[in-house]
Amino acid sequence: MTSLRELLRVGPAVDLKDIDPGTTPGLPGRKVTGKDPKAWAREQLASIGGEVAVHQEMLYAGAKASGDRRRVLLVLQAMDCGGKDGTVKKVAGSMNPLGLHVVAFGPPTAEELKHGFLWRIRRALPEPGVVGVFNRSHYEDVLVARVDSLVPERTWRSRYWQINGFERELTDAGFTLIKVMLHISYDEQRERLMERLTDPTKRWKYNPADVDARGRWTDYQAAYNDALSRCSTDHAPWYVVPADRKWYRDWAVANLVLEAFKEMRLSYPEPVFDFDAERRRLEADRAPAMAS
Ligand code: AMP
Ligand code: MG
Repeated sequence: MTSLRELLRVGPAVDLKDIDPGTTPGLPGRKVTGKDPKAWAREQLASIGGEVAVHQEMLYAGAKASGDRRRVLLVLQAMDCGGKDGTVKKVAGSMNPLGLHVVAFGPPTAEELKHGFLWRIRRALPEPGVVGVFNRSHYEDVLVARVDSLVPERTWRSRYWQINGFERELTDAGFTLIKVMLHISYDEQRERLMERLTDPTKRWKYNPADVDARGRWTDYQAAYNDALSRCSTDHAPWYVVPADRKWYRDWAVANLVLEAFKEMRLSYPEPVFDFDAERRRLEADRAPAMAS
């Protein structure tokens, strides 16, 4: 199978108009799997999740037992209803919470606004050995900040190179970045907003402001095109995942994570103590005499 990273990675001239949110790149068809694609993707997600969990444990073990500084950061961006929360649940859900650090970014607080836009991001970074997941990220500062004119144009324009420098710093420090844009269509967003409105268990997620943002769809797509084009670098590429089909989205993101992990060539750390001496000590071990 061609790697999903190769298939979904975007270059320096992305136009989201050219990527159909309803497609399923890389997903083998019914002729190959003998199964309904959705059922197959869901089954695969479970086994990929198991593999990811093993790599995650090796990453954690390496940091704990031998001071390995490496870590992984999955960055999720999307329009509202794009499926960021669902992806966290399905993809990060297979991992051990002990080695997982999930952070969702909302509008900056008064305290955060006193600092540069990367300040709160740096504070939220995962420790060595940990997998970080960002539900929204520093990219909001070239998306909503640009579309809603929260800062002057020269300010957001200067952020693309600041982001590239920052991400370079991260990868130099042992981070593997997996930046994923979940790409949904205008029609699918309407369906999902309507579902949030009508389903009492989803109504809490409905935010009237999302409909205002939807009114600026074209501006957002343009802002995404620039962010993806300018910040898809060799050390930290962007992947665009067609996300109208949730089962494809989860399968694709899980694969991107697994492929990144495999490239890290992790293994369980070797003991730093005298293995034979320790074994002899435990073999000679006797239960303490019971106090009478
Ligand atoms: P949600 O992800 O549904 O909880 O919504 C979070 C909201 O926070 C969205 O409307 C984002 O546009 C907004 N947000 C996130 N980061 C920023 C930022 N840096 N500046 C302004 N708004 C932001
Ligand atoms: Mg929301």
